[in-house]
Amino acid sequence: MASKRVYFFGARKAEGRGDQKELLGGKGAGLAEMTRLGLPVPGGFTITTEVCDQFYRLGKKWPRGLDGEIQRALKRLEHVAGKKLGDPVDPLLVSVRSGAARSMPGMMETILNLGLNDRSVEGLAQGTANPRFAYDAYRRFITMYGATARGIAREKFDHEFQKIKDERTRKRLGLDADAKVADTLVDEAELRDLVYRLKKVYLQETRQQFPQDPWDQMVGSINAVFGSWMADKAVTYRRVEKISGLKGTAVNIVQMVFGNMGEDSGTGVCFTRDPNSGENTFYGDFLSNAQGEDVVAGIRTPVKLSELERRMAPVYYQLLKDRKILEKHYRDMQDIEFTVERGRLYILQCRSGKRSPQAAFKIAHDFVAERLISREEAVTRISPEDIERLFYPVIDPSVPKPDLEKRKLAQGIDAVPGAASGEIVFTAADAEAAAAAGRRVILVRRETSPEDVGGMHAAQGILTATGGKTSHAAVVARGWAKCCIVGCEELDIDPAAKELKSRGKTLREGDVVTLDGGTGTVYEGALPLVKPALPAAFHDVMKWADSFRRMRVRANADTPYDAKKAIEMGAEGIGLCRTEHMFFDTEERRFAIQEMILADAPAQRRAALDKLLPFQRDDFAGIFEAMDGRPVTIRLIDPPLHEFVPHDRPKQEELASRLGIDPETVARRVAQLHEANPMLGHRGCRLCITYPEILDMQIRAIIEAAIRVKRKGTDVKPEIMHPLVMDRKELEFLEKRTRAVADPLLKASRLRIPYTVGTMIEVPRAAFLADQIAEVAEFFSFGTNDLTQMTMGLSRDDAGRFLPDYVNPGGAAIFALDPFQSLDFEGVGGLMTMAIEKGRKTRRGMKIGICGEHGGDPRSVKFCHEAGLDYVSCSPYRVPIARLAAAQAVLSARKRR
Ligand code: ADP
Ligand code: MG
Ligand code: MG
Repeated sequence: MASKRVYFFGARKAEGRGDQKELLGGKGAGLAEMTRLGLPVPGGFTITTEVCDQFYRLGKKWPRGLDGEIQRALKRLEHVAGKKLGDPVDPLLVSVRSGAARSMPGMMETILNLGLNDRSVEGLAQGTANPRFAYDAYRRFITMYGATARGIAREKFDHEFQKIKDERTRKRLGLDADAKVADTLVDEAELRDLVYRLKKVYLQETRQQFPQDPWDQMVGSINAVFGSWMADKAVTYRRVEKISGLKGTAVNIVQMVFGNMGEDSGTGVCFTRDPNSGENTFYGDFLSNAQGEDVVAGIRTPVKLSELERRMAPVYYQLLKDRKILEKHYRDMQDIEFTVERGRLYILQCRSGKRSPQAAFKIAHDFVAERLISREEAVTRISPEDIERLFYPVIDPSVPKPDLEKRKLAQGIDAVPGAASGEIVFTAADAEAAAAAGRRVILVRRETSPEDVGGMHAAQGILTATGGKTSHAAVVARGWAKCCIVGCEELDIDPAAKELKSRGKTLREGDVVTLDGGTGTVYEGALPLVKPALPAAFHDVMKWADSFRRMRVRANADTPYDAKKAIEMGAEGIGLCRTEHMFFDTEERRFAIQEMILADAPAQRRAALDKLLPFQRDDFAGIFEAMDGRPVTIRLIDPPLHEFVPHDRPKQEELASRLGIDPETVARRVAQLHEANPMLGHRGCRLCITYPEILDMQIRAIIEAAIRVKRKGTDVKPEIMHPLVMDRKELEFLEKRTRAVADPLLKASRLRIPYTVGTMIEVPRAAFLADQIAEVAEFFSFGTNDLTQMTMGLSRDDAGRFLPDYVNPGGAAIFALDPFQSLDFEGVGGLMTMAIEKGRKTRRGMKIGICGEHGGDPRSVKFCHEAGLDYVSCSPYRVPIARLAAAQAVLSARKRR
């Protein structure tokens, strides 16, 4: 027998469970679980995601027997509800709702009020003694069904609505020609007329009558929901959000409850905690006398929940109770959709709520304090993106208040914090085009719709004139932690003219504004932005992470400034200090290195190097001091020499005159340095094989700096690293020379400063011969940028032209990810595993780390943990991400065991 395809819920019993998200979708699993918990959920049933998959496999047809299963579930629902679908006296109405395993806000379709036809609408009118309400429900259903199931342009229906308002409602009420007519002002007679006209639109557009048989309506709606899974906007959303591997959407058929039955009814969305700050306060929007779609679409601007407490205290208190139940049960902050029908509360959806990165830390921290989750769990709940986004900018607090005041352009609702500035654009397409051209833009819309996601993603910030904190714009932007202001009603936006007016000013496309998503204020012009202070919870949660991880985390830092930053970020050492940056720092240094490169004989070279020595010594001393006893891995000179010399004539002449030589000589030497393939050329330790004087100078600078700092009482742990090694003998030559310089200096100092000599593993040959190289090297550090480049034979500088074709899921899709961003586990990772094994066979317990770009990539960090590395090293900014990833690697391994 085929597996079960329809899962019923209602009257406190449910066939499905909360942990069946993959099968029932998030919404279906949530409805089942809430029903089991005894929460007030209307009855209904869920058609599984597997059916959606079969639907597409069968060429958009239903699998055999599905209709029978649905009809049986429907009978059961009719029994529980005590009403029948299509009943002319007391009709059951249902919604048909999409819902995949991962939340895709607003991407897929929902149809409300199904079951209405020309007869049952009368029954509803009489049963509720509210004909206006019945016809309002009917006109919504015709519109939704027509647009969603039959693809009729929604504007066609909206146009009829507007016409009725203009021709009849406005006249009847004697309103001004330019006054806005609210939907709620349209009366019963006008709605009857509207329904008639909408059905005419339907007939014109489809050449069919609007379906009167509820079963036909049901089939059409279910197909529409399945269809929405593959709609362009949904496919785009999944691509942008990197969602893959889902079967499809489930379909939820749910008994309708009505928030639009008068002032004792309404609908809302709430979060069990503040999704921006994470504070343990109830947070949300409520719209009275409205159906759910009105809030989500952001068409009307709702009121705060506190207003609900004032208007309907019992409902508010029940909601508070349910909030507790849900948080306790799910052990996470929840996002809840609810509707109040004549003073009775119904919960229509719950899911784990999207939150700002600040809130992610605060909530995880508070849940530990409230003993709802463990510290381990808290650490696994933080995502690397949360950390990254913590460092998002705010408007520089030192900008004087009066300056801000003067630039104020409008005030809206603070939907997502962070600040952004950019040129305004008025369409999603313009935003995408401008971003592709490298411009920073703010997308300004009256309201956003799912079609806009591409442009929203491309923009620095989003600004809408309507909607509340749970409108489409707010929800989507929050997911990306993208600065967003909604409900900015004073903006008068004219998308056709590409301009907006506010407070007597007119701004056109391309004019710059700054958004403060934290306060909801829009400013004219570009304001300076700065990084915010970290939330208190951040430090605690990171401390927990540190207590779980095995690997150490170091930073790549070349200057005392970077070193201090690295420590602030929690680095436990420097894994890569590149010395060549020190040569570019000032003109004086540049000339000294250039003089060294242009020298003809070792003596001359040494003289030039002597000028560099004090600079390098000071730099190393500064770094050692900043690192205060933590290990510092110093890599000797690495880039090809041609990178240090001028290539244009005027600069060459200037250099020549400074050195007192002929410009032709300079030009000739520069030309000699030219290499066809510099990345495989005279660089790395090869330079010191040719010019050991360079090594002598660098080692002297390192050791003398170490002595100086140690004398002042600060511990130093230098680790001297030779780059691009490919052979044991090569390293042996360098190591001997290193010690020949270092040891006498140390001896003379009478200080004990243990130092180590090691190598990078970044040439595949070195990985193969790691056992031999380990006879000399005291440590390894994988330089995975070069190792990737050389293992794959891909030039990192040029691969950008064709690598996207390898990675693009719409193209050849050979690699899932860019191997320069996320480690190629099989190839490069395989070499690493081999080198670790070989290295440690020769030298037991050998210290091995990674210092390439991958050291800050969470996926790669996990690999490094599993491969047994001692540490990862990455840019200071990514250190917290690596700390978290290293802890999560331990926790996920524990879980698997
Ligand atoms: P989404 O996935 O976009 O949130 P939903 O399926 O939740 O879509 O439905 C859209 C809106 O319709 C929501 O506000 C929801 O609360 C409302 N809604 C859905 N089903 C019902 C129902 N049975 N009764 C009342 N409102 C409903
Ligand atoms: Mg919903
Ligand atoms: Mg390298």
